Amino acid sequence: MTRERLARSAEAAVAAAEAIGWPVALKGVSRAVVHKSDLGLVRLNLADAAALRAAFGGIAEALDRAAPGSMEGVLVQEMARGGVAELILGARHDPGFGPMVMVGLGGVLVEVLRDVQLAPAPLAPEDAAAMLRRLRLWPVLAGVRGQPPADVAAAAEALVRLSWLAADLGPRLAELDLNPLILRAAGRGAVAVDGRAMLRRA
Ligand code: ADP
Ligand code: MG
Repeated sequence: MTRERLARSAEAAVAAAEAIGWPVALKGVSRAVVHKSDLGLVRLNLADAAALRAAFGGIAEALDRAAPGSMEGVLVQEMARGGVAELILGARHDPGFGPMVMVGLGGVLVEVLRDVQLAPAPLAPEDAAAMLRRLRLWPVLAGVRGQPPADVAAAAEALVRLSWLAADLGPRLAELDLNPLILRAAGRGAVAVDGRAMLRRA
């Protein structure tokens, strides 16, 4: 995960950014919103207090238009650097099949390109690696045209861990999405910058 902190005012957001380190990402937080960037609620690479205050105002205004009164604050987040690919990781509890996990091409093009693989949870490490190799995205992850290969081992490990979370929580975890999990070059790890989960009461 990124280092991050929820802030309820522009001043608190500046203090959080000082603690986390510039530049930061700023995101409007509201349970009423699923796709933040569609609504202008994601501002990246804010390098100083002036840029952050302006972004805070813009986010508050956009959220007020989209879902009045629903703003819970803003998330101040470290910028993830050195990414070479973005994946989506998901889990859901299927009434027939039980806990399932999903991995695919992530970012904002998920719905458009639909390059995903599904499997029942929990996963063995070799299952996770095989799911990644079945993606159309795989050649990109493996490194094409002088691009460095992505850290697929980190991606597989994240997928295995998510599968155990889904298996352990069972029907209580209705669904969970991490989008994107940003992959750095091989050996440099992966970081989730956005996540959303829905829990069912026991
Ligand atoms: P949403 O999916 O709700 O629109 P995200 O938080 O996923 O919002 O942000 C949209 C995109 O912005 C991500 O797919 C990613 O490319 C980029 N992004 C978001 N947060 C960061 C971050 N902390 N570091 C680097 N890139 C980020
Ligand atoms: Mg996202």
